[in-house]
Amino acid sequence: MDYVGRFAPSPTGPLHQGSLVAALASHLDARAHGGRWLVRVEDLDAPRVVEGADHVILDQLRALGLHWDGEILHQSSRHQAYREAFDTLRRQGMVYACGCTRKEIADSILSSRGYLPAGELPYPGTCRDGLHGKPARAWRLRVPPGTVRIDDRWMGVVEQDVADEVGDFVLFRADGMWAYQLAVVVDDAEQGITDVVRGEDLLGSTPRQKVLQTLLALPVPRWMHVPVVVNADGQKLSKQTGAAAIDTQRPLAALRAAWRHLQFEPLPAADVPAFLAEATDRWARRWEIVRR
Ligand code: GLU
Repeated sequence: MDYVGRFAPSPTGPLHQGSLVAALASHLDARAHGGRWLVRVEDLDAPRVVEGADHVILDQLRALGLHWDGEILHQSSRHQAYREAFDTLRRQGMVYACGCTRKEIADSILSSRGYLPAGELPYPGTCRDGLHGKPARAWRLRVPPGTVRIDDRWMGVVEQDVADEVGDFVLFRADGMWAYQLAVVVDDAEQGITDVVRGEDLLGSTPRQKVLQTLLALPVPRWMHVPVVVNADGQKLSKQTGAAAIDTQRPLAALRAAWRHLQFEPLPAADVPAFLAEATDRWARRWEIVRR
C-alpha cells in the first residue's frame, strides 16, 4: 500500500512549537516511508478561524523546509461531502436529533450519578428515543455498544468503550457546524490517508473516528500519536494558552527543538535540508521502516 500522510492545522493562528512537533513527525514519517505528505486546512470552525492564518502557516512550513505534495484541501469547501456522509448514517437509522443544552446534560448526569465526572461529559442518551417536546439543537450518532481497540504506533494499544465513556457524540453542532469528528473521517478518506500522525491530545478522539469509519465503510488508517508540548503550567501549548509563533528566521533552531521533543538525540546538520535528510534517516531506523 502506498503511504499517504497529512498535516491538518486549524488556521486559528500561526504555527507554534507544539503544532510544529505534529507537523515534523508526520512529515518525517511520510518521507521515511517514501510516501506523500498532504496538508489540509481545518477551517470549519468559522468563529475560531483567523483570516489569513492559513497563508501564514503555509509560509512557515515552507520556511521550515516542510514541503507538501499536491493540492491543499480546505474543509470550508467540503460541506456537501459531510452532508452526504451524515445522510448515509441517517439512512442507517444511526443519527438522531438532540434538544439538550450543556446544562441539561450536566444536570442529568449529576442526578443519576451523584457527581460530575472530570473532562468531557458522556452524553446520557436523553434524546435517543425522541426530543420530549424540545426543539432540535444538535444531531448525534447512535453509538453502537462495545469496546473499540486502537493499536497506536507510539502509544500502544488503546481501548475505549465509546458508547459508555463518550456516549452518543455530536455530528452536527447546535451552532450549525459539522463536528470535527465527522469532517476528519470524511476528509481522511477523500485524501486517501493511510497514516495519521498527530498530537496525543487527539488520541481520545480516535476511537470515535474509528466508529465512524466502520459505519461509513471507510478505510481505517494507522495512527501514531506523538507527545504534545506543554507549558510551565502543564497545559498543552496552544493558541488559547498563548503559545508563541515559530520564529521562521531561525528554522533550524525550531526544528531542533521539535526533534528533541520527539525524544531523539541532537543531530549534526548545517542547514535545514541536511537536518531533514538526517532526521528522516533516523526516524526510519527508530521505527524500523524499510526505505524504498
Ligand atoms: N485540526 C486539528 C488541530 O489543529 C488536527 C486534527 C487532526 O490531525 O486530526 O489540532
